[in-house]
Amino acid sequence: MNDTEAWLKAFRPRPLHEYIDEAVSRFADRPAVDFLGKGWTYAELGQMVDQAAAGLKALGVEKGTRVGLCLPNTPYYTTYYFAVLKLGGIVVNFNPLYVQREIAFQARDSGARIMVTLDLKVIYDKVEDVRKEGALDKIVVCRMADILPQPKKFLFSLFKASERADVPNDAAHVFHNDLVAKGGSVEAAEIDPAEDVAVLQYTGGTTGVPKGAMLTHANLSANIEQMRTVFSAAEPGREKMLCVLPFFHVFAMTVVQNKSIALGAEMVMIPRFELKLLLDTIRRKKITLFPGVPTLYTAINNAELTRKYDLKSIKFCLSGGAPLPVEVKNQFEDLTGCMLVEGYGLTEASPVVSANPLDESRRAGSIGVPMPGTRVEFRDLDDPSKVMKQGEKGELVAIGPQVMKGYWNRPEETAKTIENGALHTGDVGYMDDDGFIHLVDRIKDLIICSGYNVYPRVIEEALYQHEAVAEAIVIAVPDDYRGQAPKAFVKLKAGGDVTAEGLKTFLRGHLSTIELPREIEFRDELPKTLVGKLSKKELVEEENAKRAAS
Ligand code: AMP
Repeated sequence: MNDTEAWLKAFRPRPLHEYIDEAVSRFADRPAVDFLGKGWTYAELGQMVDQAAAGLKALGVEKGTRVGLCLPNTPYYTTYYFAVLKLGGIVVNFNPLYVQREIAFQARDSGARIMVTLDLKVIYDKVEDVRKEGALDKIVVCRMADILPQPKKFLFSLFKASERADVPNDAAHVFHNDLVAKGGSVEAAEIDPAEDVAVLQYTGGTTGVPKGAMLTHANLSANIEQMRTVFSAAEPGREKMLCVLPFFHVFAMTVVQNKSIALGAEMVMIPRFELKLLLDTIRRKKITLFPGVPTLYTAINNAELTRKYDLKSIKFCLSGGAPLPVEVKNQFEDLTGCMLVEGYGLTEASPVVSANPLDESRRAGSIGVPMPGTRVEFRDLDDPSKVMKQGEKGELVAIGPQVMKGYWNRPEETAKTIENGALHTGDVGYMDDDGFIHLVDRIKDLIICSGYNVYPRVIEEALYQHEAVAEAIVIAVPDDYRGQAPKAFVKLKAGGDVTAEGLKTFLRGHLSTIELPREIEFRDELPKTLVGKLSKKELVEEENAKRAAS
């Protein structure tokens, strides 16, 4: 039996609520949550989960009921997440920054008729409009002021009153406080981990149409247990986890929240990214674990303010969601003395597929080795039935217990993405002689230049090696002679001084002629997705519009 088979044989998928119940019994008096200075122990968090579950049950939530969470990182998120799961319900994550149309689409598509949200106008008003157009029946409203510490609570009530939503007092709205006051106890639902869906996680996937990835209890518990095996250096009951990545995104839901609960870590929550707040929080709480996306580490590296802080409490960081430039990793490690390793995943795999080990065997520039119990293969881009040899590039295909059950109500999309349990990721890469995986790009981002495959990621990596470059995105633009050619968009570091010609000269030492960008454009800011990944979409659209107009 090989390691993968042995791990799978030993793996016992569990209903997710068992993780919180276990943390409550093991770490009852230990801190579970810190929100801007106010704290809750595991016993208190467990009680909040049970009260919320009783309240939701009274609203009719039962096995299979989809419940939307449209919340930034707050203790309410974790409370309702586990309350819904305890009842056998299905959590549907909503990005609070979505516009009304996107919220309405997701509510209709998932069939979530109940939404839990905050009483902040910027979020609540959109949710209320979605309800008014008939896409929701009920809104559970959580009050921001109630979770703020004094004197923040006082200042919030005084100065932020205009930001608080006006919530009607009628049957369609229920305040969190009233919901939990109903009391009563709940019995956890009977869960079949392999079959029962825990979370519907919306994603564009490889084809772009938003669809709900059905993540079962077994899928999510597999990722928790896989991380437990790989990141065994984390100490149960002792770690302080920085929760700045938004929980509604799959990376933070699993790697930050679920991992914290399984570890009995203190979740130190920040509702939105703001550099000073983040640095203050690391210092105040002596954060030990800090999962992030590359742009977050870049922002910390490049800010003057960072130099005023001692960040030495941080032990381990896991970067995911986008390529981590080696330069960014090195600078961050120098700055903090921590170990920053890269992992890789996608919504459809709950999300973690591979990660670097937290020791000296880690490899910079690689997305690591497959998670335990996971097989990774590379398939021919033109003939997906053909498995490539070690070292040859192909589409990354993942087979493991974390691979989703399918897309919600979309059997055709599911069949295009998973065949015989193998998840086609749309990412291109290869495995080196030591079994470490290297990603070269997404299939849809490939640039076909004079018939050759050019990988934007390779060009971006080369750009990051220039000392003046803070961020870089490379996309394909049409080219009369070559079909397509690479174009680079660059944001310089503060005080960074280099011309496009200077950069091209630098790149000649790092790239082949075919990879040299035809054009380099400087921007003050580069577009990012809502979770902070650099985003190509807007730049591609801009270029297309420019060309259509000329
Ligand atoms: P999402 O489903 O929104 O989390 O996006 C998943 C996609 O992010 C993957 O298919 C990859 O294209 C990309 N991704 C995730 N982690 C990495 C990484 N470490 N390096 C490069 N791309 C990554």
